[in-house]
Amino acid sequence: MTEFRSIRVHAIVLRHADWGEADRLVTLYTREQGKLRAVAKGARKITSRKAGHLEPFTHVKLQLARGRSLFIVTQADTIEAFLSLRETLVMTGTASYVVEVLDRFVYEEEGANPTLFRLLAETLKRLSTGEDPWLAVRYYEMRLLDFLGFRPQLFECANCGREIKAEDQFFSFLAGGVICPRCGHGLPNLTSISLDALKYLRHFQRSSYAESKRAQPTPDVRDEVERLMQGYFTYLLERELNSPGFLKQVRGGYKSSP
Ligand SMILES: [Zn+2]
Repeated sequence: MTEFRSIRVHAIVLRHADWGEADRLVTLYTREQGKLRAVAKGARKITSRKAGHLEPFTHVKLQLARGRSLFIVTQADTIEAFLSLRETLVMTGTASYVVEVLDRFVYEEEGANPTLFRLLAETLKRLSTGEDPWLAVRYYEMRLLDFLGFRPQLFECANCGREIKAEDQFFSFLAGGVICPRCGHGLPNLTSISLDALKYLRHFQRSSYAESKRAQPTPDVRDEVERLMQGYFTYLLERELNSPGFLKQVRGGYKSSP
């Protein structure tokens, strides 16, 4: 097996935490290696030239050296700082949600997923350039579900497999999709979903970002879609937290920053 002493990566900074006296531990999502953590030596010193490149949301080009257990940042160059994401609390909160969702669903040993990296970078760019944050975030969530293997089933009943008709339906987080009214009345823990919200989600699931922008959902549909997606993510995250992958991470001494 070849061990490279040093690697160059494109990375989005997910978060950072204090490390030792003056260092910083940064959690990165990289195009070349997926998620990884690296130590930036002296990054908390006022004179540090690395610090500014390692703020959350920054798209940065890094030179990393393989240390004994963690990578060490040896060089950092900002590609895009996305400064506007730090201008308001709402923006910062939205961007934080975007990086946190990825951080919580993706593990370090999973390796590279350049498409996921591009989705993350594009989403931060959309948010920083004044695109509708609601749309940018919902689009990100929908594509993320595809990548994570949780693409919601919206065309056939997730219980009986029959084609979904044009009427109000139910949605099951457990089954990962729409449940027809016939099955729905006998099953526990279902959320209702209106025909309008279902239509929007179906269009959304099959559309590019540019196409998604053309649909004009009503405020009610927006609220309903947001509640449904948030509910589904919360459910998946709770399930992930109980999974072996998470336990492995905890046993490995994973330290999470607030
Ligand atoms: Zn059914």
